[in-house]
Amino acid sequence: MRVPTKSFCIGPASTVKAMMVQMDTTERVFTQNFKAGTHFECIEVDTLNKQPLQRVSIPLRSDKTLHFVASDEMSGWFYVITTTALGTGCSCKRPHCSHLETLRLAQVATA
Ligand SMILES: [Zn+2]
Repeated sequence: MRVPTKSFCIGPASTVKAMMVQMDTTERVFTQNFKAGTHFECIEVDTLNKQPLQRVSIPLRSDKTLHFVASDEMSGWFYVITTTALGTGCSCKRPHCSHLETLRLAQVATA
């Protein structure tokens, strides 16, 4: 492991920050529906250091279905997968995200 020595390492980079939720469930994947006008409560997590950073409350302007996929690194924590007109995205922001595939397989299994 490389040890950062430069001052630019202060604070987590945005690429290691992810919106996540903590849930007491043994399921790897679950889906929840939210009504317009409510707030979706999640937590911004530094996935590199596995530290929760801050609570985030996202107002929902329309009815929304969110999918949650368990993190492999942090047990009890889930990444948030949203589908919009632009496509489907995962909150982990990784270039090679495995969560969308996990969700797809889970949907196939329960279909
Ligand atoms: Zn992901």
